[in-house]
Amino acid sequence: PIQVKDLHKSFGKNEVLKGIDLEVANGEVVAVIGPSGSGKSTLLRCLNRLEEVTSGEVLIDGVNIAPATGTNLDKVRQKIGMVFQHFNLFPNMTVLENVALAPTELRKLSKADARTRAQELLDRVGLGEKADARPAQLSGGQKQRVAIARALAMSPDIMLFDEATSALDPEMVGEVLQVIRDLAASGMTMVLVTHEMGFAREVADRVVFMAEGVVVEQGDPKVLFDAPQHQRTKDFLSKVL
Ligand code: ATP
Ligand code: MG
Repeated sequence: PIQVKDLHKSFGKNEVLKGIDLEVANGEVVAVIGPSGSGKSTLLRCLNRLEEVTSGEVLIDGVNIAPATGTNLDKVRQKIGMVFQHFNLFPNMTVLENVALAPTELRKLSKADARTRAQELLDRVGLGEKADARPAQLSGGQKQRVAIARALAMSPDIMLFDEATSALDPEMVGEVLQVIRDLAASGMTMVLVTHEMGFAREVADRVVFMAEGVVVEQGDPKVLFDAPQHQRTKDFLSKVL
């Protein structure tokens, strides 16, 4: 599970997260929505310590990863996979090599085992046939599915998605959402920042609405989307729904 307690994050004088409390149970899928600049990406990046925390706690399976010293960041990032808007695949490697790289480099698996597992993951995201292709030969949606397979290759307990479909052509969005949907159904613990409200409603167990660095309200998707309690949430939803 993830437990965030009174999390604050500032960039210089700009306080971007102003005391976030959030819990994500094992197997739970939480969607984070909110206006641009509200701190969604920053929150996600604090969950795997891509961003240093200013104060507060981030407990991953009970271990506080917020302290600047004494936190094993490699271990944290092995537990938590992250997929971004832009895929950042290595262009000079094949698709299979991209997926197999991290587990071999971190010596979690032998080279042969990593390749076998990479092939299984590519099959799982529907790209088994593309193992020997280079990223440049793939569509945006295919690249993003490789990025998901690559994150899964480390056998994470938690997956974070930051607008994984925002940079895609509309016709590619569905295939990537399907992979995320399958992952949710498999019981993966996930936090997804998304602009796809329909998708959030469908797959999330809970939706968290953030604005200006605070969680304004959260709850069951149907309740939050159909009967938001706060004016700030109503204003936001009236623009995006
Ligand atoms: P969007 O929907 O546009 O992706 P967001 O909710 O993800 O927005 P963040 O990217 O978390 O918002 O940014 C929140 C605030 O933090 C913004 O004001 C942004 O300028 C600031 N910020 C984010 N990263 C940094 C950084 N590395 N250095 C300085 N300021 C930053
Ligand atoms: Mg963002």
